[in-house]
Amino acid sequence: MFGYKDLLNEMEMFCSHGIETGVVGESELKQHIPYVFVGKKNGDYMIVQGAMHAREHLTALLVVCLAKHLVKNSSLPLEGGIYFVPMTNPDGVRLCQEGVGFVADKKRKSNLLKINGKTDFSLWKANADGVDLNVNFDAHWGEGVQNGYFKSACNYVGREPFSASETRALRDFTLRIKPLVTLSYHLKGEEIYWEFHQKSHRLYRDRRYAEAISRYTGYPLVHLEGSVGGYKDWCVEKLKIPAYTIEVGNDKFEHPFPYDQLSVILQQNVDLPRRLLNTVVRDREGLKNLGIEDIFR
Ligand SMILES: [Zn+2]
Repeated sequence: MFGYKDLLNEMEMFCSHGIETGVVGESELKQHIPYVFVGKKNGDYMIVQGAMHAREHLTALLVVCLAKHLVKNSSLPLEGGIYFVPMTNPDGVRLCQEGVGFVADKKRKSNLLKINGKTDFSLWKANADGVDLNVNFDAHWGEGVQNGYFKSACNYVGREPFSASETRALRDFTLRIKPLVTLSYHLKGEEIYWEFHQKSHRLYRDRRYAEAISRYTGYPLVHLEGSVGGYKDWCVEKLKIPAYTIEVGNDKFEHPFPYDQLSVILQQNVDLPRRLLNTVVRDREGLKNLGIEDIFR
């Protein structure tokens, strides 16, 4: 399993190779949420984030591997820079992998045990406050068909939009970076979500990129009714940028998801961030007549 300490080690490794690393913000339990930056500081940025749901920690390792791929292949053209945020929910991941042992506050510890109903947290999705981060963003918040209204291992929307430290941290970081596009890695299902009430040219634009992502990964585009409050939803609605949730990992496997599937997942996604950012940047630069299929090989 890939844990929080492993992530910090990876960040140190990046740093020792002269690659920019930093902190997006802090979790509920005051743990740093790290990022690593690869590419040019030219204002054309992308954010790739993983492990927003605790039990999907395999996506943290995936995002680290995607960053490493870019570092190792620095001769490939990259039109901008990519901020990789491998583990958006470090507290949740630790809960999931370690149980409540690391939680210092006794009251919080007993609350978590009460919410979970058992000492095994391996299927936990929320943060250390029982908030499901991917329904805590301000985009039709609380209107989802699966939304929950009390603390839980999953689906609790929080007291209000951005009530969780992690979602506030990612929101503020995103507003600062002003990405042209974002990618969110989740587990599992091998499918892509891209819609969130886009209209006219944005609908057309976002679908075109979605179709390109689908061709590259082999995952189908899926229309999901009644899903709201996610990071991708917020990026689409409030920032008006293309944003994608990619569910990696074959559905035939159960959670806790087998790590030996990483090589398959990596193969399907390895050069996606670079290709997508290049496509978005070149598109904006008015090279549309090349056609997205020509660029997105
Ligand atoms: Zn998820």
